[in-house]
Amino acid sequence: MQIVKDKAPITGEKIADLLNLTRATLRPDLAILTMAGFLDARPRVGYFYTGKTGSQLLTEKIKKIKVHEFQSIPVVTQESASVYDAITTMFLEDVGTLFIVDGNSKLAGVVSRKDLLRASIGQQDLHIVPVNIIMTRMPNIAVCYKDDHLIQVARQLIDRQIDAMPVVKKDENGDDFEVIGRVTKTNITRALVDLAVDELI
Ligand code: ADP
Repeated sequence: MQIVKDKAPITGEKIADLLNLTRATLRPDLAILTMAGFLDARPRVGYFYTGKTGSQLLTEKIKKIKVHEFQSIPVVTQESASVYDAITTMFLEDVGTLFIVDGNSKLAGVVSRKDLLRASIGQQDLHIVPVNIIMTRMPNIAVCYKDDHLIQVARQLIDRQIDAMPVVKKDENGDDFEVIGRVTKTNITRALVDLAVDELI
């Protein structure tokens, strides 16, 4: 990197000469530095120093991550299902948020752990009360799309103080949403760990 900084643009061959190495020995190192964004390679011209710091490059990388790279499979429950069934589904599927759909499989609402706890401390018969009575309903649901940036979703989870957002697709008419995925705080944590592992490699 120092050689490129001092002599840019410089070809791979010249760098190899200066280091008394063969071009082939140096090639993987130059490829890594270029891929990581520290160097820029222009065909038939040579290598340039980009001047970007590690943290600038990491920020750029974080901002580029899309929802579809880390989304999970959604767990969906019918709005006519009972609160009791919703609780059972939450345990069986091992999730903290259920997305509630109507008879046409379109997004109707969201039910969280605390929504179910709140319903459970009332006097109601949980086998009878349908989940759509206690859910947070459309149009107040925060949704995202598979091509959204993950960092924007993370910001919304924090701003709205929620744990999960459905990944949706507009239906044929463009009115309703089909649920195609799920982004939770766990997905965001996974993205963070992946970035750290990338850095170690
Ligand atoms: P918990 O209530 O278990 O802490 P959340 O923080 O995710 O879980 O939910 C807080 C409240 O926000 C609940 O009433 C829930 O129905 C609602 N909620 C959860 N996810 C969303 C969402 N994507 N959009 C709108 N409201 C949501």
